[in-house]
Amino acid sequence: MNQETIATHFGYNTKSGTGAMAVPVYMSAAFDFGSSDTAAARFALKEFGPIYSRLTNPTLDVLETRFAAFAGAKMAISTSSGEAAIFYAIANLAQAGDNIIVAQKIYAGSLLTKTFKRFGIQAKIFDADSADDLEALIDDKTKAIFFESLANPQISVANIQKIVDIAKKHKVITIVDNTVATPVLFDAHTHGIDVAVYSATKYINGNGTALGGLITASNHLNSIIKNNPRYEWFNEPDDTYHGLIYAQLPDELDCYILRIKLCLLRDIGATLAPHSAFMMIQGLETLSLRMAKVCENAEKIANFLSSHPKVKNVNYPTLKDNPSYEKAQKYLKNGKASGLISFDLGDKQLATRVINAVKLFSIVVNIGDSKSLITHPASTTHFQLSDDELNAVGVGPGVIRLSIGIENVDDLITDLDNALQA
Ligand SMILES: *Cc1c(COP(=O)(O)O)cnc(C)c1O
Repeated sequence: MNQETIATHFGYNTKSGTGAMAVPVYMSAAFDFGSSDTAAARFALKEFGPIYSRLTNPTLDVLETRFAAFAGAKMAISTSSGEAAIFYAIANLAQAGDNIIVAQKIYAGSLLTKTFKRFGIQAKIFDADSADDLEALIDDKTKAIFFESLANPQISVANIQKIVDIAKKHKVITIVDNTVATPVLFDAHTHGIDVAVYSATKYINGNGTALGGLITASNHLNSIIKNNPRYEWFNEPDDTYHGLIYAQLPDELDCYILRIKLCLLRDIGATLAPHSAFMMIQGLETLSLRMAKVCENAEKIANFLSSHPKVKNVNYPTLKDNPSYEKAQKYLKNGKASGLISFDLGDKQLATRVINAVKLFSIVVNIGDSKSLITHPASTTHFQLSDDELNAVGVGPGVIRLSIGIENVDDLITDLDNALQA
């Protein structure tokens, strides 16, 4: 089955139950086992079925099963936000005394480099665009390499092949934040990445109506974890789960995803709400269509901005002079580069005037909405950085970031053109 068909059909049978065409929302905290034998079988993992909505819920099951198939993954798990997904993805692998290697340009920087530090997990920073400095950072205590496929707001593409090759050599798990590309544009697991995390709040939802996160794991992840001393707790009995050894679970199950469910969701509980899962299921149905439109619009807008006399520089990976152009062609499906564009007006006052003058674009720090958004990173998402630091990370004071939606592109270009006269 292809992605568009999976997104509309997979994991839910309209012929079962009432015949409801839309996936029902199971707004229930707990589920009646019917018999004590069933209750025992579910707790012992002899039978899969709903227990309690912190762990399992039939609406979430449809989203997770469908998204795993959509992303070419063995299993998926949903969480209450993208940040919660990233927290689980790391907390499932690392503990105090361990380290993680994290790309320099990432959204979840404060979580990965500051908050985890308080838990005793140190982050070492590498340059994901080249990955030249990556291998030297790996040691026995390295538990994960974390990067974004399409990083924002500089809109660059990681050197994926090199990162994956180095990780394979050292048997370290790779985690990609694939929020901006989505599985429509970047097939993380086919490219050899072990784990992908998503803020489903963005393109997957598509309408900006709910927060949520998703984690997927590749088909080969069990074999990396099994008997790997780096991941000892997967290979030892879990005394909080009747001595279960995750790495010995049958191979059709994914031990990494199941440990998040059985251990981290149980103990921490940042679970997606059933109604939010329903919103994500609705969004996923049209994700492929929306991504195609978003990419088409963004490419036209990037070309328009490139030829505008007031614009000093445009960052969008389909532009031939872009530093990520070759990598975008190599890794992103059909070389399409999603909806984020940044451009430099070289001057903070001008950038502010343009942002205040647009009419269709909303001044919002979100991304991935069907409606186009505009931000000034230097005074919002990156306000804590000095001018030198801003220039170093590619978001100087004159830089504007756009998240392009699915409106008519001529209207968007007219709006930007008028605002640029400001
Ligand atoms: C928004 C975002 C997140 C965080 O997701 P939330 O759903 O807001 O918690 C993580 N990574 C990227 C790339 C994002 O854009």
